Amino acid sequence: MRAGRAHEQTPALLDRTRTLPAGLVVTVTWFLILLILLLVAGVVVWQFHREREAAHSKLRRLNAELYKLGLVIQATDNLVVVTNPDGATEWVNDAFVRCSGIPLEQAVGHNPGRLLQGPDTDPETVARIRTAVAARESFVEEILNYSVEGRPYWVSIEAHPILGDRERFLGFIAIETDVTERRAIEESLRRATETATNLAQEKAAFLATMSHEIRTPLNAVLGVTALLIGTALDEEQTEYVATAQHSGRLLLGLVNDILDFSALESDRLELESRAFALPETLYGVQSMFGPQAAGRGLVLTLTMGAGVPAQLLGDENRIQQVLVNLVGNGLKFTHHGGVAVDVTRTEDTDGAWLRFAVSDTGIGIPADRHERLFLPFTQVDPSTTRQYGGSGLGLSICRLLAQRLGGTLTMTSTVGEGSVFLFTIPLQVPVEPARPVPDVSAEPAADLSGLRVLLAEDEAINRMVALRMLARLGVEADVAVDGIEVLERVEDRTYDVIFMDVHMPRMDGLAATRAVRARLPEGEGPVIVALTANALQGDRERMLAAGMDAYQSKPVTVEALRTTLAAVVAGRNGVPAV
Ligand code: ADP
Repeated sequence: MRAGRAHEQTPALLDRTRTLPAGLVVTVTWFLILLILLLVAGVVVWQFHREREAAHSKLRRLNAELYKLGLVIQATDNLVVVTNPDGATEWVNDAFVRCSGIPLEQAVGHNPGRLLQGPDTDPETVARIRTAVAARESFVEEILNYSVEGRPYWVSIEAHPILGDRERFLGFIAIETDVTERRAIEESLRRATETATNLAQEKAAFLATMSHEIRTPLNAVLGVTALLIGTALDEEQTEYVATAQHSGRLLLGLVNDILDFSALESDRLELESRAFALPETLYGVQSMFGPQAAGRGLVLTLTMGAGVPAQLLGDENRIQQVLVNLVGNGLKFTHHGGVAVDVTRTEDTDGAWLRFAVSDTGIGIPADRHERLFLPFTQVDPSTTRQYGGSGLGLSICRLLAQRLGGTLTMTSTVGEGSVFLFTIPLQVPVEPARPVPDVSAEPAADLSGLRVLLAEDEAINRMVALRMLARLGVEADVAVDGIEVLERVEDRTYDVIFMDVHMPRMDGLAATRAVRARLPEGEGPVIVALTANALQGDRERMLAAGMDAYQSKPVTVEALRTTLAAVVAGRNGVPAV
């Protein structure tokens, strides 16, 4: 029976054993799912932990940075002010408290401007700051503030608007630097410059007066000695007079140099810009030095390279002055050979240039003296003055002139071989060529005796000298001792030429010229030539503006008077300014 029951149960048992693997599979599957879930949960937890760590360390870094920034802001000497959108102070740093004397608690809630500005604060600066703040724009300003105790101090403010999320305006941060000391230095520098300018002006005025005072008697010395040379003198006397003439000319040269140098140094020298013919300028140099060079067995050559225009625009007198100085030096320091002036045209990225190379075969200059010679009153050695004459001003004037003309003056030199001075200026060409000046020297000597000439001069010796010089030219002149007398003479007689001293008692030459011009119709009346010991820049313009036609710088010479009068005879339209 038991076997029968077992037999009966066997199929059921067999059935059950068949479902066993399926149950196993289900169990394993669940286990796997559980494992995966556990793994995912682990990863998520681990990730969360990492992120939290990263956030913590970022926070720590930020904190450290903030701490450092806080230290910097508190330690800096710059004043820091933070304001809210209404312009009231939110926070200030220690430097602000130290400088203004206002504690943080008292500053907070108040407008910084109202706390700090005082009687001398510039209202225009305040207005500019208000405008920038209202427009929420950055600004940089310098302003005078006052501390609690009323001590004024200057700050340079750099302020920027603070913008939050989505550009929300949160107020301003201003970083300020105390610039009181710098302002004080600037102010003292400004005052020093002002004093220096005043001194330079006083020096120039003093030099103008001094030059006038020296030129007036010098005029007499040179005039009288020139007249003396024309009289019957024995050989010894002629030599004495020639020495007096030579020394007088040297003194005149020195006075002129000092005047030029002071005008250049104080930047008072005004330059002219007129059309002129370069060949004539060079010819002037040649005729000035040619005879002297030939007399000493030296050769003086002047050449113009191809491409150098004959007509130029610029200050001919100043260009010639530099050339005269360089050629004069070249001849002075050359005993064999000669001096050559070569004019060439050069070009570089800055434009076209005119280059005058003045070379000599003279004694040369030691290398260590080259640059120093361009300093005033400097010579190669102090015995130069005794041996060769000169004051040591020439080259410094030339360099300053070259610079004022927009160019340069440099040199190269070898002892025993010679020197080369390079004078370079910008090349300017006129739109219209220069008006040709009548060359009275080339014409046969004009008859001047018919000219009606009035000489206005208050100084007795100068009057005598000028009258004698005019007499040599066959001209008998009337005399006036001041401007009032000029007007009286002009009432009585018609003159072709008036030589007019500028400084005269009662009425000076400028006033007299204006009065003469006012009495006579435009275009009529005499040619008026100023005779002046004043040769400062600007004098010429003043004289021409007063109605004078030309001016002759004292000391006058027979030649200069002859040239002027010959030009008057040649026709009033071509009177050269002599
Ligand atoms: P000055 O000739 O009136 O003394 P400069 O300034 O013109 O003054 O010249 C300064 C010095 O430079 C001269 O005294 C001389 O020693 C030197 N010097 C200038 N030109 C030459 C030259 N061509 N050759 C040699 N030495 C020169």
